[in-house]
Amino acid sequence: MKIAELIGLDPTEEKYLKDVSDEEFFGYPARPLIEAENILLAKTPSIAYFSMEYGLAPSIYHTFKTVNPIMKSNILAEHEVFSNMKDMDYYHLLPVQKILDLPIYSGGLGVLAGDSLKSAADVGLSLVGIGILWNKGYFRQKFWFRAGGQVPEAMSWDPRSYPGLIPLKPRLDIQLSGQKLHLKLWKYYVYSYDKKHVVPLVLLDSNVPENPEYFQELTDQLYRSTNGWLKLCQRAILGMGGVKAIEALGYSVDKYHLNEGHAALAFVEKAKTREPEKLGKLFAYTCHTPVEAGHDRFDLQELSAALGAEAAEIVKRFGRDERNPSQANLTQLAMSVSERVNAVAQKHGEITRLQFPRFRDKIESITNGIHTHTWLSAPIKDLLNKHKEKIGDWENDPTLLRNAGNLMNDAAFRRDLWSAHIENKKALARFLEFWYFDEKTFTVCWARRIAPYKRPTLLLEDPNRLIEIARRVGPLQIVIAGKAHPADVPASIHLDAMLEKINMLNGERKLIRIAFLENYDTYFAKKLTSGSDVWLNNPLPPFEASGTSGMKAILNGVVQLSTLDGWVVEAADKNIGRIFGYAPPPGEIGSESDLKLDQDSKELYKSLEEMAALYYATAYGKTAIEDSPWLEMMINCLSESGFFNTQRMILEYKDRIWQA
Ligand SMILES: *Cc1c(COP(=O)(O)O)cnc(C)c1O
Repeated sequence: MKIAELIGLDPTEEKYLKDVSDEEFFGYPARPLIEAENILLAKTPSIAYFSMEYGLAPSIYHTFKTVNPIMKSNILAEHEVFSNMKDMDYYHLLPVQKILDLPIYSGGLGVLAGDSLKSAADVGLSLVGIGILWNKGYFRQKFWFRAGGQVPEAMSWDPRSYPGLIPLKPRLDIQLSGQKLHLKLWKYYVYSYDKKHVVPLVLLDSNVPENPEYFQELTDQLYRSTNGWLKLCQRAILGMGGVKAIEALGYSVDKYHLNEGHAALAFVEKAKTREPEKLGKLFAYTCHTPVEAGHDRFDLQELSAALGAEAAEIVKRFGRDERNPSQANLTQLAMSVSERVNAVAQKHGEITRLQFPRFRDKIESITNGIHTHTWLSAPIKDLLNKHKEKIGDWENDPTLLRNAGNLMNDAAFRRDLWSAHIENKKALARFLEFWYFDEKTFTVCWARRIAPYKRPTLLLEDPNRLIEIARRVGPLQIVIAGKAHPADVPASIHLDAMLEKINMLNGERKLIRIAFLENYDTYFAKKLTSGSDVWLNNPLPPFEASGTSGMKAILNGVVQLSTLDGWVVEAADKNIGRIFGYAPPPGEIGSESDLKLDQDSKELYKSLEEMAALYYATAYGKTAIEDSPWLEMMINCLSESGFFNTQRMILEYKDRIWQA
């Protein structure tokens, strides 16, 4: 079979031939594979996109079919809920019968990488993604009901029965700690929305029998980096292994795009065979966070022992930490070797220039986005299609969503948008029916990684104030979700505090229904970003580089309640909701640890109360849909999503960073 050979399928793995033919690839057309592979193999300049994690969300978008049986561990059947209705938590699980998310991501960085590949496919770019196959995913979150805390459980899944994931024939090795580390490769194809193009994603895997156990475990768990050596080896697999994978597959790549310092060792691998000074034009780097913990540092001696003297020399020349010369700094390495460097929102660009003054002149900003087709709910999609004549061919060009703004005074559009929104709320209410959620109640959601700078406890600072708002204005529904990285102690303390505050609302279920869902993932993200009335985003400015969950919400007409940070700065004057809280004066960064919880929670409650009143005025019919200020905000949100999408973003990368 020609195609199996062209895509590199391991010929000893015969069961895959049932899903891969010259016509079909796991139920999708095979022709785009042939085209994409041929272009990558020809001497056509292409882009290699490196990321430690990818959130591809196949449970909600482009789900492959397979004729082979799918192992049970790849199906997610249930989630628990921690609510202020303890009896319900005890008797009911959230029924979720779906294919497990390809578990190789932890949060926004991964989802952005996944959305970027999808948009690259949508616009027909020749690009290959490089990542790691995490054999034990990230982790599974369980709540410890009696003690009130999170228990991280190891998760298991089966790459060999995951639809669309195929093992490859080419193998490679890299030298680590004086030994040979063998790497196996996998491939997953990311299809464009119209299934006419694909982008391959190549995943590296050290879990092969030829490796000693301590090497096999290197690609077990995403961000399980209990010691420096483990972390360094994972960086080496992505960067150095990634470059070798491109060579092993015969792809012609002329741009290496590094996401975070995680992938910076790709430069070191290249510099072994070519003069490092001549490599600059090959590399581009995106910095995704102003948070200190986001920058990898390694002891240079340890690095030399793991990667060898030659690699260490290159790192010393280009990536020595400025403050501590006995350390390597991968952010520094990536910035100094890349011709083009960018931050992920305008504001983040300013902050990055302040943090890295030496590279100030080459740091640009390209604002993040989300993949429209993945995150658009069915009711809003129907709405856009019903009004397509006035909006235009938004499927092909999501920037046309801007035209929703022209429908501001179109009464039919307003009514249709409101019904679409209520339909989304109904879906969320059905999902949480055992917890008495309904579509009539004002619903607020906070869902993202639990990290201290995101201030997960802000809404729960003063439960009595929430009760007061509910008494004065109307009942509240609150949905919360998010995982705390198991090694992040401050994050776990925040999570414990959240559960404790939820318990304080146990007697108030008539006024307030509050549910914390276990195991936040892209499936939940779509339900929540479309099914709530208000999307709460309250990071401490300026530490949210961009944030993307709010972009998913505006695409579905969900109004924002946000601090002035990340992408929101660029839409803050567009009346997309309420902006509140502290923001540092221009030119200042401030402190990550001074969370300003007391001051900002007071402002949050004030804005929330105003919003609840405004919402209920429309929901109870006191304000007509035709002149409802709530609808006006919803339409502004929809219109802004014409900008905050990965199609616009990837075309900016194409023109300004890759010149492809
Ligand atoms: C979109 C998304 C995120 C990113 O959320 P932020 O608000 O940008 O932090 C994290 N996790 C999942 C599962 C997502 O879908």
